[in-house]
Amino acid sequence: MKNFDLHNHSNFSDGMLTPAALVELAKKGGCDALALTDHDTTLGLEEAAAAARRHDVQLVPGVEISVTWRNARATTLHIVGLNIDPAHAPLQAGLQAIREGRKTRAERIAADLERIGIASALEGAYGHVQNPEMIGRTHFARFLVERGIVRDTAAVFQRYLVAGKPGYVAHQWATLAQAVAWIKGAGGVAVIAHPGRYKITPQEMRDLLAEFKALGGAAIEVVTGSHTRQHFSEYAKLAREFGFHASRGADYHAPGESSYAPGKLPDLPADLLPVWQLFDH
Ligand code: AMP
Ligand code: MN
Ligand code: MN
Ligand code: MN
Repeated sequence: MKNFDLHNHSNFSDGMLTPAALVELAKKGGCDALALTDHDTTLGLEEAAAAARRHDVQLVPGVEISVTWRNARATTLHIVGLNIDPAHAPLQAGLQAIREGRKTRAERIAADLERIGIASALEGAYGHVQNPEMIGRTHFARFLVERGIVRDTAAVFQRYLVAGKPGYVAHQWATLAQAVAWIKGAGGVAVIAHPGRYKITPQEMRDLLAEFKALGGAAIEVVTGSHTRQHFSEYAKLAREFGFHASRGADYHAPGESSYAPGKLPDLPADLLPVWQLFDH
């Protein structure tokens, strides 16, 4: 099986490597094809494509879009778009609007941390950002580690920045219908990222899969660094049942922060339909 790794971040969002360094690491990891899927931006794709040509790796242009599903419960989901044309204007307008929302959310996160005595978090978080348009919780997490307030970023996401803890700010992202429409309009394939991570009931998961399918969603991630091994089999089963193609991606962010380096994941179960069969160019 060709080694496709279809979910990775660069420092254009909340990864730490440049797109070129990420491509180099993917080549070392044995990737035949790599998708750069930065959160809510496609700015890193040009550099990634140039590096991919140099290293003889196939670059799959991608993006990971932040979505709020079912407004009442306000569950945040991530929808990956693969093999997109980044020039598609509605996609760019949508991503731009999401990034605008990130700025005001960052100010509110910092204000909430200030309330419990953590000063200058906004400046601190921006100190970890390479692309100021794409400030996110990971940058706050790295700031809290740098300040010596928390040992590592995984621990931050247990004590801060999540629902019920300091630094959490509820936020409205795009709708699921918008994200799928932008991706499909851009000629891409829409994929539910790391479904095992969402804190929803089994029935809500089935509702989500049915709704996503009806909107034209094509695949779900099965093997990802954001899943446990139990999730691998659980979502393989749901992919079969709902007739989804399956995706595989490290969700790599940074050395020491991610469970798999690009290309180093287990293979997809052999009977699943790999999402890359849907790439027509
Ligand atoms: P944001 O889109 O700004 O809300 O940030 C979401 C990002 O935070 C994710 O893409 C991850 O990189 C990171 N993140 C969220 N939850 C965790 C967690 N439990 N452990 C490590 N990183 C996390
Ligand atoms: Mn991230
Ligand atoms: Mn994600
Ligand atoms: Mn991701």
